[in-house]
Amino acid sequence: METLVEIPLSTPRQRKSLLTQLPEIPTLTGFMADHSASLVIAGRQLAAARSILVISHLRPDGDAYGSSLGLAHSLRALNISVRVLNQDGLLPMYNFLPGSENILTTPATAPIADLIVSVDTSTEERLGKTFLSWKKPVDLNIDHHGSNTCYGRNNLVLPEVPATASIITQLIRECGWPLTPEAASCLFVGLSTDTGSFRYRGTSSDTFRQAADLVDAGADSAELSRHCYQSMSPQRFALLRLALQSLRTECGDRLAYYILTPEMFLESGAEPEDTEGIVETSLNVKNIRLGALFELKTDGSLKVSLRSKDTINVSRIAAGFGGGGHPGAAGINFPSDGITHIQTVLVKLRQALDPG
Ligand code: 5GP
Ligand code: MN
Repeated sequence: METLVEIPLSTPRQRKSLLTQLPEIPTLTGFMADHSASLVIAGRQLAAARSILVISHLRPDGDAYGSSLGLAHSLRALNISVRVLNQDGLLPMYNFLPGSENILTTPATAPIADLIVSVDTSTEERLGKTFLSWKKPVDLNIDHHGSNTCYGRNNLVLPEVPATASIITQLIRECGWPLTPEAASCLFVGLSTDTGSFRYRGTSSDTFRQAADLVDAGADSAELSRHCYQSMSPQRFALLRLALQSLRTECGDRLAYYILTPEMFLESGAEPEDTEGIVETSLNVKNIRLGALFELKTDGSLKVSLRSKDTINVSRIAAGFGGGGHPGAAGINFPSDGITHIQTVLVKLRQALDPG
């Protein structure tokens, strides 16, 4: 294993060359692919910087925040100045994450920094309009979405890894960086939430070993899980109740879908991010194979969340409409004609269950 000690960082010129002339990260795929060379290249790029911006996707989830903050905590322990940005700032339900109080809403003008790193974000657009208006390239794109467009100058994209937080943990371990209790806690949350509490396919023996490593490094599994899974606001619970009342099933109870309207948000007092987890609820039913959540907005736009618990690849269905994600969890955003698009997506879901 190469260590950072061997990397000369002493002169500004040497640092600049590491920032600008790194070899491209090779694309590695396959279940047992050895990523260590890629991790070391990415690690060199990061450790050569004095200041870094870490940015993640719109409507951030536990993996977006957990990966951003986990990376930030470890890099700060190396005396690198790190700012964590998101177009949506900090969503209150994640305010238990160590360091979350310092998350910044993406500012209108780009802060000066040596490197811009994106985490857990499959396309540049999903970093948000404010970031795009900077017209600055992403220097390093760290992600686990198979649909990632490799929009960065360098791309550490490992689709077979179940969470971006897992890639960050591997990076920290491979480079010998400090895994502080704060970093471990944030990374544990990313790993736990993106694997559905270690239930989804893609959760391997390595994932459990990594979780154990994070617990050994100071992540309090029970406490973090309580924050993630047993701290729902009454407003979110009210939205869930309304959503369940809207639930319809089709195709012999193999397809379930919810339609959320702006009125339901008004009635429950819930926020847009309170939809997280609702679509999964339908998959708790034995025969349901596909779950969909259609969220109609006041401006006529539509957000679609798709979930599958077996062989049907919803990422492929989403890609057909310009969306993306993973085989078991994907999404689509339609900017207009929401009601019409509910029907077109439903047609594809029925076809997926009953081809021909
Ligand atoms: P969710 O349904 O929870 O919003 O998203 C599920 C998965 O699909 C996530 O991995 C997310 O990154 C991806 N996803 C959701 N919406 C979109 C989209 O509009 N475009 C792309 N490329 N991916 C999406
Ligand atoms: Mn993720």
